Amino acid sequence: SSVFANIVRAPEDPILGVTVAYNKDSSPNKLNLGVGAYRTEEGKPLVLNVVRRAEQMLVNDNSRVKEYLPIVGLADFNKLSAKLIFGADSPAIQENRVTTVQCLSGTGSLRVGAEFLAKHYHQLTIYIPNPTWGNHTKIFTLAGLSVKTYRYYDPATRGLDFQGLLEDLGAAPSGSIVLLHACAHNPTGVDPTNEQWEQIRQLLRSKGLLPFFDSAYQGFASGNLDADAQSVRMFVADGGECFAAQSYAKNMGLYGERVGALSIVCKTADVASRVESQLKLVIRPMYSNPPIHGASIVATILKDRDMFNEWTVELKAMADRIISMRQQLFDALSAKGTPGDWSHIIKQIGMFTFTGLNTEQVAFMTKEYHIYLTSDGRISMAGLSSKTVPHLAEAIHAAVT
Ligand code: PMP
Repeated sequence: SSVFANIVRAPEDPILGVTVAYNKDSSPNKLNLGVGAYRTEEGKPLVLNVVRRAEQMLVNDNSRVKEYLPIVGLADFNKLSAKLIFGADSPAIQENRVTTVQCLSGTGSLRVGAEFLAKHYHQLTIYIPNPTWGNHTKIFTLAGLSVKTYRYYDPATRGLDFQGLLEDLGAAPSGSIVLLHACAHNPTGVDPTNEQWEQIRQLLRSKGLLPFFDSAYQGFASGNLDADAQSVRMFVADGGECFAAQSYAKNMGLYGERVGALSIVCKTADVASRVESQLKLVIRPMYSNPPIHGASIVATILKDRDMFNEWTVELKAMADRIISMRQQLFDALSAKGTPGDWSHIIKQIGMFTFTGLNTEQVAFMTKEYHIYLTSDGRISMAGLSSKTVPHLAEAIHAAVT
């Protein structure tokens, strides 16, 4: 008999498991609104034109080889990624106070940052919002940090529980790490206003809390790369230290290429260079060095003005399509007279709508309408199209009446 005979079957991942269930459904009307991946109006995955162009250039360049990258990844990619999130004119970059390392998309960047903190930082408690992306708890716990939550979402208003947030972070022990979604909070679609961000910044700085930004949706929320990095830039502008994990999965559609970056903004160039030396010791035994292809695509696009501009146009088109799906779904529910206030669908931001539908209503929609979403009632707006909005509106209407 197997030496693994006693292995217990693990449950499916709560988000990726939705796709597993969807794939098993043979209904022609089935709809996958679980995973956060962009789809076209035709329901197809999208490879950006500018990405195709960059890949073509890379393929045609015979001087390119498949050697290992350095432990910290592609130098150009790292420099350009820091500029993208902190701003081209960021004093922190000019003063060489930022260390940036290429990592395996957003998840890998969070994990490398967490492993570094667990090893070198004096305070091992990290506060994450309630609710948050389901992987956060596991990433930080497995890295050796102790995870606590702060209030974030108020189900009654379907908006931000700002008072609760200030109270919980105000009561956090000095030095605690605080995970902040840079924009387009997942799963709620609820972001602080700029005035609220400023209050959060003052609170964190006055209490000596360490901000760790998760930026998985830059450009995807508003359609504007600078606007979506505003929160991060406010924290860097005050001269304090912070962490930022960037993902190019959504904003460049590079999901499976696993391309992202971890930046640590330090007080001085000397600290930044010592931090980087230790990041290498975290990365080397984990995966040695990152893959070359995705980072080369990103660097090719970011360093060429014309390609960069083409990217921003395609990015805005994706953001605009999602915003238009919000309006169409809201209009369809209004037209049906579906009971309840659905204005949060158009108020929330980014890839997801946190509908307020409960587990039973979600199960009903899956069973009766073949619509797949996470059990917390989160729907990926990027998976909707003008053709599928009526079907979803009908299902929501039936679920709540
Ligand atoms: N953070 C958040 C909030 C996310 O929503 C995601 C993607 N679902 C990620 C990080 C990381 O994604 P990836 O590792 O694919 O870049």
